[in-house]
Amino acid sequence: MADNARIKNSLSFDEPDNSFNPREAITEAKRCLSCKNPLCRTGCPIEHEIPQFIDALARGNVGEASTIIARRSNLPAVCGRVCPHEKQCEGACILAKKGKGIRIGKLEQFIADFDAEMELTAHTLPSKFAGKVAVIGSGPAGLTVAGDLAKAGYEVTVFESQSEPGGVLVYGIPEFRLKKDVVRREIQRIERLGVTFSTEVLVGPDITIDEMFADDYDAIFIGTGTALPRTLDVPGKDLPGVLQASYFLQMVALARGGNVDRREVPVQLGDKVLVVGAGNVAMDAARTAIRLGARASVVYHRTEKEITALPSEYQQAKEEGVEFIWLASTTKFFGQDKLTSLEYEVMEIDDDKNIRGTGRLEKINTDKVILAIGQRPAARIVSTTTGIEVNEKGYVITKDRPYGMTTRRGVFAGGDVVHEPATVVLAMKEAKKVAQGIALYIEAKKLLEECGA
Ligand code: FAD
Repeated sequence: MADNARIKNSLSFDEPDNSFNPREAITEAKRCLSCKNPLCRTGCPIEHEIPQFIDALARGNVGEASTIIARRSNLPAVCGRVCPHEKQCEGACILAKKGKGIRIGKLEQFIADFDAEMELTAHTLPSKFAGKVAVIGSGPAGLTVAGDLAKAGYEVTVFESQSEPGGVLVYGIPEFRLKKDVVRREIQRIERLGVTFSTEVLVGPDITIDEMFADDYDAIFIGTGTALPRTLDVPGKDLPGVLQASYFLQMVALARGGNVDRREVPVQLGDKVLVVGAGNVAMDAARTAIRLGARASVVYHRTEKEITALPSEYQQAKEEGVEFIWLASTTKFFGQDKLTSLEYEVMEIDDDKNIRGTGRLEKINTDKVILAIGQRPAARIVSTTTGIEVNEKGYVITKDRPYGMTTRRGVFAGGDVVHEPATVVLAMKEAKKVAQGIALYIEAKKLLEECGA
């Protein structure tokens, strides 16, 4: 306990400064074997030209390294920090087998940060006007489509419901993992490509897809993510004190930005908090609660082996004092006017290695429960227009030709709103392909218009 208390006292919301300095970055880059068949590149969802940017860095040319990265990504400083590198590029690095893999994420972060600080590179914008595109949502998917299309000469406006663009990068991922200034810097670079951001516009209620088309947009991209948190359908779920992780993390981000009063944050000093779920969002919620001076435990219905959080995130949570209650399936929340305890059924593993309930119920006193059990898309856009079909879970259906087009002509979608919630880089990967689909569609549309069809 004494150790935990010491760790908690030293925890801060600031992102730890463990980035490379120039000498360390170049030394690390020089360790790269420049493999003929670079597995790191295959491991990267957006197929970054990793050996090439590492080679440029090893020669001390950070500007060239940054230019190579920018060919594939509009968000390098973000990806360098929050991509699951251990599962992707770094995991695939040939040197990783000897436990000495190249720290590709940290190199990408160094190159992006150094370039931004020294203003080494600037994009030259195409002078042609290729068409007009509306992007709904400014998370990684929307930012990627906006950046890629702006570079190709399209006039892009991003519509965002929140007061600040960035999506989960700003309102979800806590600041101790991703500084908000880093996200703001990346967005400013996209703005310099000529992209306009229109914030506090909730597409659906405030402006519909049909009204956007009436404003002469050639195509519209929906990148609205998964705004609706899943709830646990058990007695007491509506008691004050039962919170959603997305709401909790957003309130903390808003309070830290000075946009809401600190007292409105639903977890306070000394609170006992139980987090239900064991993915990365659960780790973020528990680690954030600890930084607010609460005690935090994760309650999970399966075992440690089945945890869905990245091993590094789980490890950090443990080191910071988060406790874990395994094989505990939440069955009820107790309280009169507010939550007082959580009841769970003790689970066990049977002879066939299946997890089943034992019928034995246990109760834990708690001040707050944070649910981190997944999200799904909201229907604000599809319910205010016609022709955009969704599947039985509410995810937007898209086609392969042109890539990313929905069942309504000219309306495209990508990122978490199309797939199950995934990662920043997977949202970017899809969005890059959709941006190409949009460009193809607009080109064909303009050609037909020219022919008078
Ligand atoms: P989002 O980022 O959700 O962006 C959608 C945007 O659309 C939002 O800004 C929203 O306000 C806006 N919007 C929604 N509806 C409307 C509307 N009707 N009108 C206007 N705007 C609208 N991934 C990683 O790779 N690494 C991590 O470390 C990581 N940590 C995470 C931590 C948390 C707490 C969460 C929740 C997710 C995390 N993820 C992580 C997942 C990753 O952030 C998402 O997969 C990614 O952000 C999805 O991008 P997106 O652009 O599809 O959606």
